[in-house]
Amino acid sequence: MAVKTSQMVEQLELLGCIQCGKCTGGCPVARKTTLNIRSLIYHMLVEPEMDVDAHPELWDCTCCFTCVERCLKDVEPAELIIALRGQLVESGRIPDTVGAALMAIFRQGNPTGIAREDRANWAGELEINAAQEGCETLYFVGCIPSYDQRVQPVARALAQTLAAAGVNFGTLGADESCCGNEVRRMGEMGLFEMLVEENGELFRSVGASRIVTTSPHCFNTFKNEYGLDGVEALHYTQLVAELIEQGKLKFGSVGAWEKDVERVVTYHDPCFLGKQNHVFDEPRAILNAIPGVKLVEMDRNRERSLCCEGGGGRMWNEGTNLEERLAFQRVQEAADTGAEILAVACPFCLLTLEDAVKVQGLEERLKVMDIMELVSLAL
Ligand code: SF4
Ligand code: SF4
Repeated sequence: MAVKTSQMVEQLELLGCIQCGKCTGGCPVARKTTLNIRSLIYHMLVEPEMDVDAHPELWDCTCCFTCVERCLKDVEPAELIIALRGQLVESGRIPDTVGAALMAIFRQGNPTGIAREDRANWAGELEINAAQEGCETLYFVGCIPSYDQRVQPVARALAQTLAAAGVNFGTLGADESCCGNEVRRMGEMGLFEMLVEENGELFRSVGASRIVTTSPHCFNTFKNEYGLDGVEALHYTQLVAELIEQGKLKFGSVGAWEKDVERVVTYHDPCFLGKQNHVFDEPRAILNAIPGVKLVEMDRNRERSLCCEGGGGRMWNEGTNLEERLAFQRVQEAADTGAEILAVACPFCLLTLEDAVKVQGLEERLKVMDIMELVSLAL
């Protein structure tokens, strides 16, 4: 399928590109597949049309935005990939698994395809207030924490922690729908806009002054793409760090955590929290506040953190090189620090890195835990 390049060059302001190659040089996926964002931009600039069917590697991009961070000309290279995916979505030329995830979001409001009515089951025995009855803080749970059995305990830990700190919060229960962050990055702009409109209306009707998310992906789109005037979007690490700072959370009072035992922990910065939204200090502040935690850094940390390959729709699309997964490298880097716990703050990172630990045979050396799991153990 041929895509006309001139209109896209203008819309995405690609003319500013000086072909320096810093984007491709930093792209973690370019090292293992044929994805070359600088070269894609070059073709857009010099050729009247691009045959997008000849670029299956477009689906390898994780939308980590390392290229956007590195571009000194403010070109936002990743937006070209999203736009080209949009063309493919429009013509139905998408991987089956991506199509299935998008259809499930359209029908059931989540990419797993499990029924909408089951969305609040993650809470189990916990009694959670309905945000629709009014609350100060809206807790947006997210699709993966709602439905994935490995991630549901993270949502429960966060809800219990907010309750312990006396936060007046509620959730939308079965009325919650996918945030759309990955939908936009898979190129389905129509569905994304529908979700923004419907979710935005629901959030405003609740009247909460802030919305806190489990996932950096939901946080990213609420903060940067929803236009939620008057509603502050926060990732949970920001809120929990604030609660600790205010003295509203005290560690070591009731939990099973042996506070005198030193535990070496390393932290993996999620792309959508770190690189894209510059939330680096709060997760570390939480970890440093937990008694017994000795935080050690991997060489690639903060802006230089290595993508786990879970974003940009890659949870539903394996990409063109399954053998050399970035998550394999990442868990090896974590193990090399001598840490016994690899702390994460994102549902996708939790799943991809935990799987990589198993595949790499590191289970005896390294345990992957969300920061909320550590917090709830230590409270
Ligand atoms: S970093 Fe920016 S200017 Fe350099 S090649 Fe990439 S898009 Fe072009
Ligand atoms: S967003 Fe990340 S994976 Fe995609 S092209 Fe840019 S650097 Fe590469």
